[in-house]
This record gives sequence, C-alpha cells and structure tokens, in this order.
Amino acid sequence: MNETTLYQHGTLALLVPGLLTGTLTMKELLAHGDTGIGTGEGLDGELIILDGKPYQVNSRGEVNVVPDDFTLPFANSHFAAYRPLMTVENATQEELHAQVLGLTHDANTFFSILVKGTFTAVKTRAVAKSGRPFKSLAETAKQQSVFDRQEVEGTLLGYYSPQLFNGAAVGGYHDHFLSVEHDFGGHLLGFGTVTGEVQVQTFSTLEQHLPVDDAAYREHDFSQDDIAGAINQAE
Ligand SMILES: [Zn+2]
Repeated sequence: MNETTLYQHGTLALLVPGLLTGTLTMKELLAHGDTGIGTGEGLDGELIILDGKPYQVNSRGEVNVVPDDFTLPFANSHFAAYRPLMTVENATQEELHAQVLGLTHDANTFFSILVKGTFTAVKTRAVAKSGRPFKSLAETAKQQSVFDRQEVEGTLLGYYSPQLFNGAAVGGYHDHFLSVEHDFGGHLLGFGTVTGEVQVQTFSTLEQHLPVDDAAYREHDFSQDDIAGAINQAE
C-alpha cells in the first residue's frame, strides 16, 4: 500500500475519439486504492470511490454501488492518507481551489482534495451509457443529465493534475461529488459556496496504466484528434 502513488487507468485522451470500452474491472481498480473517480464503459455514469466503496451516479441521478466486474475505460484511485489542511466558511469553488494551491504549493505535482461539508447551489452531471459502436466523447457527452441541489451535505473528492498533463488527465482540478444521503452526486460542474473541512494528499508518483490488451486502443491513430479542445469542452 503506497500512499504517495496515484494510479490512473487509461487517459482522458483515449475517450476523445470514443475508445470507451471498459478495459479495467472495478476489482482491479480497487487493488490500487480505496478512493477514486472514473467513468464506466460507454461513459456509463460518474464514479466516486469512498472508503473502498464504489458508487456510480447514473444519468437518471440514481446512486448505485457497482459490482467487482463493472468495467471502466478511465479511472483514478489511490489509498487514502489525507492530512487536514484548513476549514473553509462560505468559500466559492474558485476560492477553495486557489486556497488549496496557496497552502500546499503543490501546483506542479498530483494531489487529491477531500472536502466534507455543506455545499450550496451544487450542479453535477452524469453521462448516459452509450452502446457500440461508440461515438466521440463530444457526441457521447451530449447525452448527459444535469442535477441541481440548493443545499446539500456531502463529500467532494477531487484530483489535481499539473497543466503539463492535460490530455493524460484533466489539467487542474477534476472534482466528483456524493451527498451524505447517497441520493445525489456526479461529476461536479460547480457550486456556490462550501463550509466544511478540507483535507489533502500529495502524490510524488503517477502510475499510468494503459489498456494494452485492447486492439482498438493499440491501433488508433491519435494524430487527428483535437485532444485539448475536446477535453476543455467536455470537462
Ligand atoms: Zn468526472
């Protein structure tokens, strides 16, 4: 169990042309961490793993615990060993993100934030699972639902990646959310303010795993894909 390693399966870039086959099982992902985020095959909802339990928010807004054989084209996980960083009161998402960087000086490495508290005006999204043949990320992500809550107690789990890695991951923050009641969550589009406790965990190492058993991935020519443009649009 390595608390300074962030594990990543697949890349955001491979989602752009529609390489959406699930190439890692949840069981395999959990072997690399008890905390994480990801998406299912065909962009089947938004995943958030907390305390070893993998929750999926689907496009109907339902929260399910997924089985070990659930497969994912893209995911992150790590073993939680967070340290308390600060308490925030009525902080906006921009303030939260900036204050964390200001206190940690971690802009040039990978880290995770875990924020437990009360959030206002929370907006999340979850993409609907698409079938084969898969379309591009931009096309697939059109079939998404957006959910709103005025005030909700919950957990924000986010990963920060240095801008240099935009394409392999989302450069900057990539946040997912789950309510304490397990009745609301998804990929976090934004929120008004948060009051709560902020914890962080810094990683010195990125373990990047690629779907080398997937023929479509092996044979795809990425030279024609506008990776950065598509990621900025979809994420
Ligand atoms: Zn996401």
